[in-house]
Amino acid sequence: MSTKVYRIRTTSPETTEHIGEHIGACVRGGEVIELVSDLGGGKTTFVRGLARGMGSTDRVSSPTFTLSREYAAGERTLYHFDLYRLNEAGLMADEVAELAGAPHAVTVIEWGDVVQHVLPKHTLRIAIHVLGDTERELEVTCPPELAYLIPKEVIA
Ligand code: ADP
Ligand code: MG
Repeated sequence: MSTKVYRIRTTSPETTEHIGEHIGACVRGGEVIELVSDLGGGKTTFVRGLARGMGSTDRVSSPTFTLSREYAAGERTLYHFDLYRLNEAGLMADEVAELAGAPHAVTVIEWGDVVQHVLPKHTLRIAIHVLGDTERELEVTCPPELAYLIPKEVIA
């Protein structure tokens, strides 16, 4: 088994949410997902679906000003970071490092460059390429240990 790269087209925010939802339905706890794109790429939109797929009914919004938000999802918690405004990792790196792999935590990070050094080797990375007004390509890099996160519905 080796790292796989999937390229998935989406042509609406709803479709991007659905992809997130399918992945959210597969989480077991302890996963770290890094989202990479320019502003407006659809990272937060994806997280909205991810939270729903995990069974959360909490409202997902961008943690740009608060750096992180938490959503309750049954016995799990989704930790949503947006480190756009963070110049130095500092304590935030400790927090991310502590959450990564915690069995009841799922961690999703927008603008994670600054904490790159503490992300686990088995991180699911999703780069969103903006192709047009509503067209996006999700480039999903999935290590073999996280293959269970990518169900057939997502890559069909
Ligand atoms: P980011 O978190 O990457 O800055 P957001 O999810 O906050 O991005 O915003 C994405 C914007 O792009 C939203 O206004 C959304 O409606 C719009 N959009 C248009 N098409 C798509 C698509 N296919 N997938 C995701 N978002 C899309
Ligand atoms: Mg965002």
